[in-house]
Amino acid sequence: MIKWRAFFFDMDGVLYDSMPNHEYTWTKTFEAEEILLDPREAYINEGRTGRGMINLIFNRNFGRDASEDEIERIYSRKTRLMRECPVAPLMPRMKQLVDYLRLHGIAAYVVTGSKQPSLIDKLWREYGFDKEHIVCGADVKRGKPDPEPYQIALQRSGCRPQECVVVENAPLGVRAAKAAGLYCIAVNTGKLDNSYLTEEHCDELYASTTELTVRIIGLLNDNLASDFTER
Ligand code: CA
Repeated sequence: MIKWRAFFFDMDGVLYDSMPNHEYTWTKTFEAEEILLDPREAYINEGRTGRGMINLIFNRNFGRDASEDEIERIYSRKTRLMRECPVAPLMPRMKQLVDYLRLHGIAAYVVTGSKQPSLIDKLWREYGFDKEHIVCGADVKRGKPDPEPYQIALQRSGCRPQECVVVENAPLGVRAAKAAGLYCIAVNTGKLDNSYLTEEHCDELYASTTELTVRIIGLLNDNLASDFTER
């Protein structure tokens, strides 16, 4: 018998196909600083703050942190480029999965480090998440890979850890979920080898959100069937 009561979904790369935009804008932004960035860096470091990412790349290239002026200049360029990017589409079958969970009385939450002001409206319009079900960058002191964002979601849900499932696409996101003591399903929707996700000890791994949705819906249907025969 499945005892799921809540699912915690990461946003970029899980609910929205937005990682290509992040890859493009990080690469272009560092290009303007005459730093050549391996595009996979956007995926390896997904979930870090802008400051964290800039300092990491500066340390690797120049052996020092970026100054406040450099961080400001680089991050505002990244933000400007993001605004010019095409709107990220929903990931395949994810709306179906979220709706199906709710239909079965399982709560769905979004847990993201993003601070975009338009986020709340968009998540409501496109996925039906209200404010109470969104943990975003403004709600946390420490972002992923710290467990704090998932601990907040757990607290809000009122569930026990063993009743909750996290869905993540990023290595640092998996690390955050596991540090919070939660079951974590990884979907490898980016450009990294599976080993990046398995090394962070994800509990299950799928190659796409379609595969994930088919699997979860199948389990819920089996559960309904066994409920019926037990009666
Ligand atoms: Ca993500």
